[in-house]
Amino acid sequence: MTSTHVESSNSVLDDRIEDELARLRTTFRSGVTRSIDWRIAQIDGLIRFAKDHTNTLIEAMAADLGRPPIEGWTADISTSISGAEHMKSKVRKWAKPRRKKLPLVSQPASAKVMPEPLGLSLIIAPWNYPVNLVLEPLVAAFAAGNVVAVKPSEVSPHTTGVIVRELPKYVDDRALAIFEGDAAMSTALLKQRFDHIFFTGSTHVGRIVMRAAAEHLTPVVLELGGKSPVIVANDADISVAANRIAWGKTFNAGQTCIAPDYVLVTEERRDELIDAITNAWGVFFGEKIVASPDFGRIVNRHHHQRLTELINGAQGNVAAGGDHDIDDLYVSPTIIVDPPLDSPIMTDEIFGPVLPIITVANVSEAIDFVNDRPKPLALYVFTSSSDTIDAVLNQTSSGGVCVNHTLLHFVPPDLPFGGVGPSGMGRYHGKAGFDAFSNMKGVLAKPVRGENNLAYPPYTDAKQKLIRTVT
Ligand code: NAD
Repeated sequence: MTSTHVESSNSVLDDRIEDELARLRTTFRSGVTRSIDWRIAQIDGLIRFAKDHTNTLIEAMAADLGRPPIEGWTADISTSISGAEHMKSKVRKWAKPRRKKLPLVSQPASAKVMPEPLGLSLIIAPWNYPVNLVLEPLVAAFAAGNVVAVKPSEVSPHTTGVIVRELPKYVDDRALAIFEGDAAMSTALLKQRFDHIFFTGSTHVGRIVMRAAAEHLTPVVLELGGKSPVIVANDADISVAANRIAWGKTFNAGQTCIAPDYVLVTEERRDELIDAITNAWGVFFGEKIVASPDFGRIVNRHHHQRLTELINGAQGNVAAGGDHDIDDLYVSPTIIVDPPLDSPIMTDEIFGPVLPIITVANVSEAIDFVNDRPKPLALYVFTSSSDTIDAVLNQTSSGGVCVNHTLLHFVPPDLPFGGVGPSGMGRYHGKAGFDAFSNMKGVLAKPVRGENNLAYPPYTDAKQKLIRTVT
């Protein structure tokens, strides 16, 4: 493995990328990655990397994001390790060809679905969960027997630095290349032909990636963002809902792809909900939230400025918080009630600890509100009624749903995770991840004996009659 820094000269960079990718392709063609033992050894290496460097990675994430150590552990380290251990325990089974039953017309023959690695995969990662969003797809890519080019985020340089320096020591260096750099590096990589691209990031860049992939007809998994709504029904337990929304909105300072983006609630329960969320933040972080070690920071000045503009553009109605300090990259947990629906805070993904609360007449209007907008990555509903749960599940479309909590549907290692439409395409985690990096090859094998010329010309009347009967 070599890590490649972006160069000033495009052609020098292109040449270096081509050399690295040729090296990976040679490894793939050698067949070494097809062995299940090899794949398990790579997964083991990734687990060891996460375990050996737990503290360094948590410190790096704290430096990049002001991330409280326990949030670094739960969201990035422990989920990556448990996902990898699950993959390791299942990969032998998932990689096996699966026999398929055949209809009479296809017999005599045997058929199977044979998972095969796609080949050379490119993984492009964002900064908000800079360990997990590299490791989790990498585990799936190796489990499926691929060689991999990885482009971590430049926006989380401390964490990316640890990954670039240390991770390659834990895996077969013939099968991995890490490319360190910014959008220019991604752009240069995307000119090349890959067998698969796994991109996690914004919807805007997702479009760029998909356009580049279309040039080579490369299959893509796009794990994108967007606005994930919360519906709070009148029969919800407001204090529980408030705790869980307050937590989901301030974990990693709201910089989570599936963070609750805004809340839909009736006027009847709205003020109670606002008070309860504000109260929950007080309990979590104390009276001086800025001084709490348990509340993270915004990743950089650009995103801080973007968030303060969203708050200012929301035209007043601030019911809680609203404080910010660019030098400390601090934005307080903030509630904004009924901002104009065409203001940026209601049209753009917020990606910070700012929570608009929108008043609706009832759950049915909330469902219409969701359906009038791009399909979200996550949807949350708080209710004690199974009819309301069914209505939301059956009448809306989203990448995933979590009922009566937030964020937690990301955690189970075998629950497929991904978006739909503008929030993404494709799935990973567990078997879904293995499948995403595999070509599910359909194979039919006929015996040589028993040649039957029924299907061949000349199509006599007798043959046609027989074909119509049999098929
Ligand atoms: P981003 O799209 O700006 O960047 C993601 C990656 O793409 C980075 O590695 C970056 O270097 C690269 N990139 C940036 N500009 C590029 C360009 N013009 N061409 C090619 N590559 C380019 O996203 P981000 O700011 O790093 O992350 C935040 C976004 O990611 C949010 O929208 C969030 O919702 C989304 N996200 C989604 C998931 C998910 O699982 N669906 C997880 C985390 C984050």
